[in-house]
Amino acid sequence: MTKSFLDTPIEYLKGVGPARAKLLFDELHVRTFNDLLHHFPFRYVDRSKFHKINEAIPDQAHMQFKGKLRGIRKSGPPRRPVLQAYIEDDSGELGLVWFKGIKWLEKSLKEGQEYIVFGKPTKYKNTLNIAHPELDLMESHQKIQEKPIQPVYSTTEKLTSKGLNSRGLERLIRNLFETNEIKMIENLPASVISSYQLAERSEAYKSIHFPYDQITLEKARFRLKFEELFFVQLMILQAKGKRQRLAGQIFGHVGSLFHQFYDEILPFELTEAQKKVIREMRRDMKSGHQMNRLLQGDVGSGKTIVALLCGLIAMDNGYQVALMAPTEILAQQHHEELERLTSNMDVRVELLTGSTPASKRKELLPDLASGKVNLIIGTHALIENKVKLKQLGLVIIDEQHRFGVVQRSKLWRKSKVPPHILVMSATPIPRTLAMTLYGDLDVSVIDELPPGRKPVKTIHRYDNTRLKIFGFVKQQIQEGKQVFFVFPLIEESSKLDYKDLMDGYESISRAFPLPEYKVAIVHGRMKSENKESEMKRFASGQAQILVATTVIEVGVNIPNASVMVIESAERFGLSQLHQLRGRVGRGNKQAYCILMTSVKLSAEARTRMEAMVRTNSGFELSEVDLNLRGPGNLMGTQQSGVLNFTIADLVKDAKIMNLAREEAWKILQIDPELNQKAHLYTFAYLNSYKKQHPDWSSIS
Ligand code: ADP
Ligand code: MG
Repeated sequence: MTKSFLDTPIEYLKGVGPARAKLLFDELHVRTFNDLLHHFPFRYVDRSKFHKINEAIPDQAHMQFKGKLRGIRKSGPPRRPVLQAYIEDDSGELGLVWFKGIKWLEKSLKEGQEYIVFGKPTKYKNTLNIAHPELDLMESHQKIQEKPIQPVYSTTEKLTSKGLNSRGLERLIRNLFETNEIKMIENLPASVISSYQLAERSEAYKSIHFPYDQITLEKARFRLKFEELFFVQLMILQAKGKRQRLAGQIFGHVGSLFHQFYDEILPFELTEAQKKVIREMRRDMKSGHQMNRLLQGDVGSGKTIVALLCGLIAMDNGYQVALMAPTEILAQQHHEELERLTSNMDVRVELLTGSTPASKRKELLPDLASGKVNLIIGTHALIENKVKLKQLGLVIIDEQHRFGVVQRSKLWRKSKVPPHILVMSATPIPRTLAMTLYGDLDVSVIDELPPGRKPVKTIHRYDNTRLKIFGFVKQQIQEGKQVFFVFPLIEESSKLDYKDLMDGYESISRAFPLPEYKVAIVHGRMKSENKESEMKRFASGQAQILVATTVIEVGVNIPNASVMVIESAERFGLSQLHQLRGRVGRGNKQAYCILMTSVKLSAEARTRMEAMVRTNSGFELSEVDLNLRGPGNLMGTQQSGVLNFTIADLVKDAKIMNLAREEAWKILQIDPELNQKAHLYTFAYLNSYKKQHPDWSSIS
């Protein structure tokens, strides 16, 4: 079968025509034969099994019974007749009812005969009935037994009304297989097929729709999932391989800046985990190849210092370093902290963001271009801007899942000899996701927190106990602690959220009055100089309370702040809650995180609150999150296209993903460009796959 056959518009399939074709496209996005072929059943019913009638459960599933047909009778007005009957076995009776096709049924149904009945029992006036059951005479049992597993397809009301219910779709797909023998070219290398005894491609497509038995079905599903994950991994690993073969700048020595900082300034001993990841990066940066590394570490694990130490190695070798933060506030924070840490060193640190005044910018740009600035900190604007650097050696991206494979790829196409890349990710994400989103990166993990950290105590309370919470907060302030109150302001433009925030601020200001208490506030609508001065009031300890929106989500480091109250916590996602909680518990005092919600909670929100109370592990939370929301939502819309799999499931198919990645890796070891004869069809398929995923294909 050639590719062009499957590209045939669905209209030309037997049983479709223009009207249904339009409907199929509008409702299911099925445009071609190929699309229909990929409309896989979402479940199957096993028709080899019979239930006893007294096992019938209402409104849940299709079930199959056998028994004698009895009591056939017509009722209702002549213009809208109803046909009723019941089926009887040794355990009981079950009603059957029809509203259509009655004339024909009256003629063909045989009272007292043994029938097989299939359908969904529903409850009506306290009795169970099946409306429009499928009926087969027991004599034809043999025929059903030959194909006992029936596909069930997702469909819509509109399609159903035009005869395209699950059965109707099944018929179309049968037509597709019958019009032409579907022969799909095998796209997996023979070696892979044989080592896992995978189903052949054509077989797999046939079996996923019309499985012969449970085993063929499992094999077909496995094969198609494997195939899907294999090609994603092949693409990612090939891009990675290409980059690894590119030349990289060589940071040959560790010099005086690194040593000065390490020996004289560093205020604490590095954890073993921090030392280990620095060694890994050091090895990359002197290898002669470009480093592309993901540094994973839970909130508070000390990634900033690690980044700085790597930066100093770059500077020791005469290179400049850029640090990109996801928000302006975080960029400012990094700037402040890193400038402070290097204040006694011969290192110039600068900040460049969207709100850097034009005059400052004018002064800064030439100094960047001439190499006078050693470390430049900013937001993403940094790379998109017309910022020229004399010798950029290392780019550090401090990110919150906001910078996927695709966006990152823009970076390394900027210069001839690309800079080394270090991506820091605060939330440990589930492995399967990491392999997809960061699959092109090498990974270093800081799996240890600095010593002396007490785990944050997390408590869930309802709104109506607010006064008690205020009392608790006062007590904490008396002990010298500082407190965050966080309000959701998911969309900066949302008027309602803004009002909630201002109302909250007022009531907190009333409950914590001057002069004893001072309350600072930051939110997205403030001018950045006001934000900055309010943050300073809090950071310096002048104000005991900071009322804030999620702008403090990332990075803010105020060790004395050890209580965090999160208002309307049910409106935050798990990863956000975890990030927020990571802002407290950085000092040596016992820290608290109080999740305030309304009393009415959705089941999902309750699961989130319970998970937060139960564990401090970002990794565990990310698994919960993945199960709650699925991969697309988890990572935000930016990457969801990448995570739209036809059949594979990143939550459930982690094992298959591992195998697929391993195999893809093996193949590329032998044949990096896939130009061996044995890989001809794999190569061809990969190219067409890339065309279907334009975002991905720009990676290499
Ligand atoms: P994150 O990994 O979330 O970015 P930070 O780099 O902001 O964490 O570090 C959190 C806090 O821990 C900072 O105050 C930092 O100075 C401190 N810190 C980092 N490493 C150590 C260490 N080895 N020992 C003690 N404190 C450390
Ligand atoms: Mg950080």
